[in-house]
Amino acid sequence: MTYYDREDQFLRQRLQKEIPVLTALIKNLYEGLDRRFHLNGAKVPVTFGFDTDSLGSYTRQSAHNEEHFHFSLFFIAYGVKNPLSKEDRIDLFKHEYAHYMQYNMSIPEKYQWQTGTHGSAWKYCCSLIGAVPTPYYKAGEALRDHDYDKVLKNRIHDKTVPIRDTYQRLQKAQKQKNEIIHYKIGDEVAHPRFGNGIVEKISPRSGGVHLHIRFDGEVKCIDQKWLMKRRDSYK
Ligand SMILES: [Zn+2]
Repeated sequence: MTYYDREDQFLRQRLQKEIPVLTALIKNLYEGLDRRFHLNGAKVPVTFGFDTDSLGSYTRQSAHNEEHFHFSLFFIAYGVKNPLSKEDRIDLFKHEYAHYMQYNMSIPEKYQWQTGTHGSAWKYCCSLIGAVPTPYYKAGEALRDHDYDKVLKNRIHDKTVPIRDTYQRLQKAQKQKNEIIHYKIGDEVAHPRFGNGIVEKISPRSGGVHLHIRFDGEVKCIDQKWLMKRRDSYK
C-alpha cells in the first residue's frame, strides 16, 4: 500500500463518522419541507460516497434504480480541507430536494416550457423552497438573493462554474480541473504529517496529479490535492 492509499483511507474513515450527523441534518430539513408541500422526501433513502466529480444527486425510481438521494462526503463533510459553508451545504440539500419535488408534485403548466433536469419545472421548485436556481455550484451563492422571475424565463445557463450534481459533460470538466498541475519541480510544499518537502517529480494521472516529494531524505508519492503550497503563491 502506498502512502497515498493509506492517507486516503484514513480520511475516508474519518469522514464516514459524520454520516449520522449529516443524515439527521438532511432528514430534518426534508421533513420540514415535506410538511410545507405535503411530500415524503424525508422517507427517500440517503446514501453517501466519495465522489470527486459530483456533490450530490437525486435518482428517480426506475427499472434500474432505487429512488435515493446521494451526497459526496468529499464535499459535504465538515472534516475536509475546504468544507462548504453552512449555507452552501443546506443549499445543496435543497437543490436535490427540488429535483425530488419536480417529479413528485404537480407543476403548473406555465412552468413546464423548459425541459431537462434543470429546466423550468426544477427552477419553479427551487423558487418554492429558496434554493439557488442554477445547476452549477458556486461558493457563497446561497447567500445571495435570487431573481426567480427572471430565471424562470431565461433560457441561458451560466456554464462557467463547476457542476453541483450529476451532469455528464461537466463532470468531465471537473475531472480535467483536478488534472491541472499546480506545482513544478523544485517547489517547496508542506504536508500536515511529513512537514516540508521538495517536489522532485510530477506524474499526471487520470483525475489527479501525483507528486514525488522528498521529505527529510525520504521520497513519498502524494496527490497534489493533499498538499498546501508552503508559500501562498497562488495567483
Ligand atoms: Zn441538479
